[in-house]
Amino acid sequence: MRIGAHISISKGYEHAVKEALSIGANTMQFFSRNPRGSAAKALDFVDIKNAEELCKKQDFGPLVAHAPYTLNLASSREKAREFALMVLKDDIERLEQAKVPYMVIHPGSHLGDGIEQGTEKIASGLKHIMTGREKMMILLETMAGAGSEVGYTFEQLYDIMDRTGMPEKFGVCIDTCHLLGAGYDVIGRLDEVLSEFDRILGLSRIKAIHLNDSKFPLGSRKDRHANLGEGELGSEAIKNIITHPALKDKPFLLETPGGIENYKKEIDMLKSMTD
Ligand code: FE
Ligand code: FE
Ligand code: ZN
Repeated sequence: MRIGAHISISKGYEHAVKEALSIGANTMQFFSRNPRGSAAKALDFVDIKNAEELCKKQDFGPLVAHAPYTLNLASSREKAREFALMVLKDDIERLEQAKVPYMVIHPGSHLGDGIEQGTEKIASGLKHIMTGREKMMILLETMAGAGSEVGYTFEQLYDIMDRTGMPEKFGVCIDTCHLLGAGYDVIGRLDEVLSEFDRILGLSRIKAIHLNDSKFPLGSRKDRHANLGEGELGSEAIKNIITHPALKDKPFLLETPGGIENYKKEIDMLKSMTD
């Protein structure tokens, strides 16, 4: 089983992998740069090499980057959209050099223009910043549908990928808190939700799973993460998710509140559920 969490790489990749290993993780997620999208640090190739060797030795991975969550490819403000394009393009190039296989992005928020226009802007933006020759894959995250978020249904994610003209460069990161918020009943109807995903997108598209409990119930369209077992999902549903045949071999990444100590506790709990 692959279990990890969102870890800071402010002290470098190798340091982050060590930190993740120290809490019993064997995969991790990190921000591709500061979460608000400010300037990225130059790549340290010695650090990257060391991290790579450590990953190999410890059978650790995959490394999953997460783009700054403030970027909005669907923005109707031209400046904001251009900024998002510039940052993502730069992050793709840097992550490609660091041989990071995945970067998760939130598709964007249409800010009142509607899903159709938002979808078009996101797809054309992605098409613009990608060559199609990248080794890495962009993972579109399933959103809760808060505010004017685009990408809270499987159909919307399909449309974005399809309209880029290079759907093979894209995968999906499902977020269990967001799925519940968006109205997908992963508590009572997990099999049905996954069959629907398979029919529309194909289960092989799921490359990572954000494993979070949710402070709000099914269909709330809210995105507030809770600690595992302490939210609306509950332990039983979480156990069903991590042991489901269609999901159990994918990387699970915690984005729950409470920092590193809490991650360790939750990783222990997940391991005890699967023994
Ligand atoms: Fe996210
Ligand atoms: Fe998430
Ligand atoms: Zn969330």
